Amino acid sequence: MIANYFERQQHTAKIRDFTDNFIEKEIPVEIRTDRFCDRVARVLKIRWKLPQPSHDLALIAKAGKNCPFCPQHLETQTPMFPSELVPQGRVHFGESVVIPNAFPYCQYCGVTIFAHQHYIPLNQLNADLLLNAVNASLQFFDHIRQADDAIRYFSINWNYMPTAGGSLFHPHFQVVANSEPTHFHQRLIDQSQKYGKKYQSLFWADLIAYEKAHKKRYLFNYGDVEFMASFCPGGIFGEVLSIFKDKLAMDDISQNDWKNFFQGITRILRCFDRLNLDNHNMTLLLGRDGDEDFWIQARIMPRISIPPWGTNDVNYFEKGHNEIVAIFAPEELAAEIRHTI
Ligand SMILES: [Zn+2]
Repeated sequence: MIANYFERQQHTAKIRDFTDNFIEKEIPVEIRTDRFCDRVARVLKIRWKLPQPSHDLALIAKAGKNCPFCPQHLETQTPMFPSELVPQGRVHFGESVVIPNAFPYCQYCGVTIFAHQHYIPLNQLNADLLLNAVNASLQFFDHIRQADDAIRYFSINWNYMPTAGGSLFHPHFQVVANSEPTHFHQRLIDQSQKYGKKYQSLFWADLIAYEKAHKKRYLFNYGDVEFMASFCPGGIFGEVLSIFKDKLAMDDISQNDWKNFFQGITRILRCFDRLNLDNHNMTLLLGRDGDEDFWIQARIMPRISIPPWGTNDVNYFEKGHNEIVAIFAPEELAAEIRHTI
């Protein structure tokens, strides 16, 4: 049943190669369609070099002098929530702090600063640190739930480093809450319910079973949290999908589940670090009440700027045609992550 949603088309482009006496050569392009997510990705079979490390340590240190998220500036240079929402003004959990987003995308929009440390390289983003940031974010969501009964959908989002859309180096999540799901979240909920009615089965359970059987994109599980590379990725170097098995509402997720989730995420980050994929986006979709047939899930994808000019990895195909260009096949990404301990 899952196979009905995934389609692969092979195309070739012909060129006469100036590096090889202008001999005619065929270059393969694979077009993948995911009818469940309503996504198209063009997977190029060109051998690309992995990027060089992209973090400019001198620039990051310079930015630290005026960074509003650093502890010496946070109290005076960041906003506070209205007291009816968060009586103390900001939410603290360990070293993590949630403050309002000064550039909000919706009615309830926060920023969760992970820790005091201004710059945290990929290999230091450990599970305990990320767990603290999630617990701070969940406490912020509790304040919203107590203040506003209409809010049902939440997400924890991550732009790690400016190449991935981060406006500050200091590591932080973007945490948002709405009465309605976002466009993509709604699509997944709708499709999950349509699939359930059509096949009398759960899409997410079937997807896990399908990927386990096919082996090429399935990664691993930690407890009830499953990880796999997406068939049709949302990013240039692919994407990892993480599914919380049988968890529909956000309160269904235990501390142990969160620990399991971050065990998997930090293993993926170790792989990204090894490949110099040192910028990424993550989205984690949560519902207050749970939607029938929809399991809580997250997606994480590397972002790069392309040498030598720092070219952006998003171009007209994604912006104007809503199709992703990928230069690393999902199966290649899965193999790299599986080989990372
Ligand atoms: Zn800072």
